[in-house]
Amino acid sequence: MEVLTNTTTLSSAELMELEDRYNAHNYHPIPVVLERGRGVHVWDVEGKRYYDFLSAYSAVNQGHCHPRIIGALTEQAQKLTLTSRAFYNNLLGEYAEFITHYFDHDRVLPMNTGVEGVETAIKLARRWAYNIKGVADDQAKIIFVEGNFHGRTLGAISASTDPDSRKGFGPYMPGYVVIPYNDLTALETALKDPSVAGFLVEPIQGEAGVNVPDEDYLPKAFEMCRQRHVLFIADEVQTGIARTGKRLCCDHYGFKPDILILGKALSGGVLPVSAVLSSDEVMLTIKPGEHGSTFGGNPLACAVAMEALKVVEEEKLAENAEVLGKIFRTRMEALKNRRPDLIQLVRGKGLLNAIVINDSEESKTAWNICLALADNGLLAKPTHGNIIRFAPPLVMTREQMEDCCGIIERVMADWE
Ligand code: PLP
Repeated sequence: MEVLTNTTTLSSAELMELEDRYNAHNYHPIPVVLERGRGVHVWDVEGKRYYDFLSAYSAVNQGHCHPRIIGALTEQAQKLTLTSRAFYNNLLGEYAEFITHYFDHDRVLPMNTGVEGVETAIKLARRWAYNIKGVADDQAKIIFVEGNFHGRTLGAISASTDPDSRKGFGPYMPGYVVIPYNDLTALETALKDPSVAGFLVEPIQGEAGVNVPDEDYLPKAFEMCRQRHVLFIADEVQTGIARTGKRLCCDHYGFKPDILILGKALSGGVLPVSAVLSSDEVMLTIKPGEHGSTFGGNPLACAVAMEALKVVEEEKLAENAEVLGKIFRTRMEALKNRRPDLIQLVRGKGLLNAIVINDSEESKTAWNICLALADNGLLAKPTHGNIIRFAPPLVMTREQMEDCCGIIERVMADWE
């Protein structure tokens, strides 16, 4: 088929028009057209440089085009990219050993996107409920919490309480129970049902606007699940891999989830790589032919993910996220005290943070602030109308963070 347009000569405006004309309208992007990235920076087609404060929804924790990760990608890409799981490949075993030791679980089930990891975890929990816990056929239940975001498949949106994600896509998956977030009493009640297989939760709700639960919520929820013989399933697709200042967000609370779901930064944002980690007991309930993915566990993904995880460790990205997160929140708290009329709340952990704007979800204030931030060389995006998430790559330096805080302060301090 003939390509009608040579995009290399087009302006941002023309490229946005082209996308708008031919692409599905399932996103509403900030109007910048990016063509290059390195570390904490991205450049648009006109050559303007920005700090990236979204990191592709926390997929680019190691920074854009990290040379070591790109090195692993290009080296492996010239040897072998995909075999399918019809055959063994020489990297999957090494990767499985590496990642299970890294996160201290018995086994891994490799997938591609985050939501496939979530689907896999739900299937594992159901299978475990039937084979090990003794739940009657087709009766297994999974508990979710309000405000969750686990991706866009029918299995994930069936748990959603966000009308934008859910409305008009029914019928929905049965066997789901949705309770309020950060509510241990509601969890205690829901756990009384003996057919509950698992409790699936984001340790911090990213898409909902960086909702951080009470300090005792997660460890107590974990303990309650343990007592009721229910699997605690942590969706760390966004919070994992050093984003919140520890290797995993659950590490802040000192427990290991029964099932761990990872994605996004597992590849440093280079290609879709997700993983579900768990015990022998859970993982071995699935037998050959019962679950899989053509691309899951491909050698290219294995090479990239191992390098991406080594970078996180060797460059001490969790420690950096912890330190820079404190600087960010301290300066933003001070900004809030100067503009309490504009800023309602600053919250977060590590480098997963949000500012809640003092306006309705329908207002354009947060969007307009993000446009002004972009004009000033910093890219962030509102979530749920009045909340702006701030999640830069974890390779940021202290000087860069101070510079970025300055940009945000200049834009917001005099906001009309
Ligand atoms: N789970 C969480 C917590 C997420 O934040 C996301 C994406 O933002 C997903 C799952 C879905 O990941 P993906 O978009 O790679 O399918």
